[in-house]
Amino acid sequence: MTQPLVPRIQLNDGFSIPQLGFGVFKVDPAKTEAIVTDALEIGYRHIDTARVYGNEAGVGRAIAQSGIPREQLFITTKLWNDDQGTQSVFDAFDASLERLGLDYVDLYLIHWPSPANDRYVETWKAFERLRESGRVRSIGVSNFLVPHLERLLAETDTVPAVDQIELHPYHQQPETAAFAEEHAIKIEAWGPLGQGKYPLLELPEVTDAAAAHEVTPAQVVIRWHVQRGHIVFPKSNRRERMAENFDVFGFELSPEEMDAITALERGGRVSSHPDEVN
Ligand code: NAD
Repeated sequence: MTQPLVPRIQLNDGFSIPQLGFGVFKVDPAKTEAIVTDALEIGYRHIDTARVYGNEAGVGRAIAQSGIPREQLFITTKLWNDDQGTQSVFDAFDASLERLGLDYVDLYLIHWPSPANDRYVETWKAFERLRESGRVRSIGVSNFLVPHLERLLAETDTVPAVDQIELHPYHQQPETAAFAEEHAIKIEAWGPLGQGKYPLLELPEVTDAAAAHEVTPAQVVIRWHVQRGHIVFPKSNRRERMAENFDVFGFELSPEEMDAITALERGGRVSSHPDEVN
């Protein structure tokens, strides 16, 4: 597998993002450099981290020693809730950039709206200034629902490039996805495999398609995301699974197989409701 097989998704600000990447939530900081090095060797060029994961420095070391030209990589990190504001955003961003060892990030996200703190509009205005500085190429949000997005659109000048939300066959968030599509905001699907908390990979809708295409259930679910147009970055610590999850461009699910997986929706979120994460 080589990177050119991964399609790029056009963002609303002129930049583009590799549709398939590698996420590092819950990757042990002490092992992150080695695991991200594996991911880069397999061919991943898009890495999704966050300040709160505590492993930005490991991601940065893997990038530095890879020798891969910076422009071939797409690096996302996220602002944690307690750094929302204005000066606190600039300080948190500087610290993330330093830990990553980079002079810009491709995408910076507000990790959660944290509505009880009522600072996400102010925070977004600080993000606009970061983008003007050139040290962030694209700015976006995460875990924003329609009311949070509506407020940003009403009170600021920049439409987020992406909204990174929990999205897998058991929890597809159709209202947020439809609103995003209407406003040219791309959906990034976090927890694409349901974080292994649901028996997703054992359901006949998934295993039958896997047998038909001679692939694994995880490949079927990742392929479902790709065909739905989501940006997706499954996580695994295991090199063979990382390679498996990257190898999803050699088969295509039929409309019937896609529909059967889409019909699994049951509002089954693995995380807290975004209004409750403050
Ligand atoms: P995921 O759905 O990618 O699930 C990961 C788990 O699935 C693994 O720990 C493993 O148990 C299992 N798995 C992975 N590959 C497999 C395979 N081939 N076969 C069988 N099982 C397999 O969950 P995630 O890590 O939470 O989500 C992916 C990324 O999304 C994260 O690493 C992070 O970058 C991002 N994320 C963002 C937020 C947010 O609030 N913005 C929250 C959670 C995750």
